[in-house]
Amino acid sequence: MENKAYIALGSNLGDRFGYLVQAILLLGSNEEISVVNTSSVYETDPVGYTDQNQFLNMAIQVETSLGPVELLDTCLEIELKLGRKREMKWGPRTLDLDILLYNHENIETEKLTVPHPRMSERAFVILPLLEMDPNLKLPNMAEPLKKCLLSIPDREGVRIWKQKNGEDVFALIES
Ligand code: ATP
Ligand code: MG
Ligand code: MG
Repeated sequence: MENKAYIALGSNLGDRFGYLVQAILLLGSNEEISVVNTSSVYETDPVGYTDQNQFLNMAIQVETSLGPVELLDTCLEIELKLGRKREMKWGPRTLDLDILLYNHENIETEKLTVPHPRMSERAFVILPLLEMDPNLKLPNMAEPLKKCLLSIPDREGVRIWKQKNGEDVFALIES
């Protein structure tokens, strides 16, 4: 599968870890998507709207034959399947799936912007990404992503919740 993408996962309602696991299994069960790497799971204080549960956040790397908008549609379908309701911007959710990067492309359509426009301000996105690739660069930035961490205030609000063990993609799920 010729395209490489990174996807951020987040949940702060109900069985948070269960939703992350289900999302990864559903993505992987699509024959046009293969999950090739997963980060540890982090627990994160909510930012923006702060009067809500703590989040579990992680990121995964996939290879896919889907185009970027098809990949987004697949993610939105999985969110709905796992009970996502959009009642309040940045409010509580069973599952959020955001496309962070798609190859090295800059994409700007009505329903999809890649790189994800707020990713370089979010420690809960950057830390799991750097875990998978410490030297990751964004197509629209000269500096490597790790430089962004220096200027981010919410870094202390992000803690390892479940450490990834071993290199097996599904080790996280089986343990
Ligand atoms: P944020 O984008 O700040 O993380 P959110 O994830 O809560 O907020 P959603 O309600 O999940 O926002 O998404 C709203 C819309 O954002 C989606 O319907 C989708 O069309 C659009 N969107 C644009 N770019 C992306 C992207 N890179 N990944 C996911 N959704 C995106
Ligand atoms: Mg989001
Ligand atoms: Mg989203």
